[in-house]
Amino acid sequence: MIKAAPKNSIWHTALHNFEQTAKRLKLEPEFKMKIQGPREMIETQLNPIISHNKLIQVTAFIVRHNYALGPAKGGIRMTPDVTIDDIAGLAMEMTWKTALIDVPFGGGKSGIRFDPKSVTIEDKEIIIRAFTRAMHRHIGPEIYVPAPDMGTTQSDMGHIRDCISYSEGTAITRGCYVTGKPVIVGGIVGRTEATGRGVVHTIIAACEKLNLDINDLTVAVQGFGNVGSVAALEIAKRGAKVIAISELAGTLYNPQGINVPALAEHIEKGGSTADFPHAEKIEHHALFELDCDILIPAAAQSQITAENAPKIKAKIIAEGANAPTTPDADEIINQKNIFVIPDILCNAGGVFVSYLEYTQETQREQWTLEEVNQRLAKRMTQRFLDVYQNARENQLTIRNAAMNIAVDRVAQATIARGLLP
Ligand code: GLU
Repeated sequence: MIKAAPKNSIWHTALHNFEQTAKRLKLEPEFKMKIQGPREMIETQLNPIISHNKLIQVTAFIVRHNYALGPAKGGIRMTPDVTIDDIAGLAMEMTWKTALIDVPFGGGKSGIRFDPKSVTIEDKEIIIRAFTRAMHRHIGPEIYVPAPDMGTTQSDMGHIRDCISYSEGTAITRGCYVTGKPVIVGGIVGRTEATGRGVVHTIIAACEKLNLDINDLTVAVQGFGNVGSVAALEIAKRGAKVIAISELAGTLYNPQGINVPALAEHIEKGGSTADFPHAEKIEHHALFELDCDILIPAAAQSQITAENAPKIKAKIIAEGANAPTTPDADEIINQKNIFVIPDILCNAGGVFVSYLEYTQETQREQWTLEEVNQRLAKRMTQRFLDVYQNARENQLTIRNAAMNIAVDRVAQATIARGLLP
């Protein structure tokens, strides 16, 4: 279905990790193919009319990778170069992530090939609504439930819900069509921060197992978007010293510790890492080479490669981003005995709270922030401990143990449903 994907692409990484797991679990070849392939790949051409009466062409995708455990779940990535293969790889990652964090969802993902920064927010809304109308029949509480991902935000999710209810002539949608919405229109409190918070819960659990005191540790964070900024703020609050933070505009370094709330405020007011005065500017690549205890890649895919992996000095890598480590780099990191908290575990807090939003909306419930945060902390910590124990018992890396548990769950659900149509 998918052409041979280029080395270091997301599909390549996802497929590699799956194939290794299928071998460990000894899946029969035909059964393996059933689980490996995306169930559905949709590509569509959007032709919205934006400002100045300009008609543009935008390619968009939805991939439903697997729905053995429930409706496909996963965000909408809006970047200028996203491909259907990337979306297939990310959808496959979602299948394992939802299975591992134990929510009744499958894996899916959407892509809109467009640079959201190149247009006004009004024009972005036109494109999001065009996507929603074109893909309406592929989105729904029992089919595929999108959420934010790179390049999309809470307000985009609000427009998706509005566009669907508007088309149906209703005030609300019949059930949960999209998560990560603004709280005032059916979103759940704490969803925006959930991924970053979840990253920190897994780090704290790892530190306890490794006998490390968080107050003694230094941290470098790649990316200061929704995941990186919350992870940096939360880990600093817990006592760690965040010594480096990078963003496209520049990489900051301060061995005494960066004042993360001050940086967040500076960026909120329209500043960037390039003009933040209280830290030194270093080259982007230097972030990975720093003497630090914890490295959090929370930017894009394929950032840790065979080239920079040998230079990493961190004891723990916590994968806030999806597929940040290429297979070659993973091998090097394992040889160096770096403790990796893999993406499907580390950043699963977002989709876990999406599940709470789904149930809240379905049952017309109202959750408090305290309840959401408590359930998030409990689930992230418990799943980390389950994976850790499995890794120790079977002498596996944390990534391999996480993949074994996730793929096995999907395999069990596939068998339980039965192989006949
Ligand atoms: N885009 C997020 C992820 O990669 C969230 C997905 C969701 O909540 O559906 O996990």
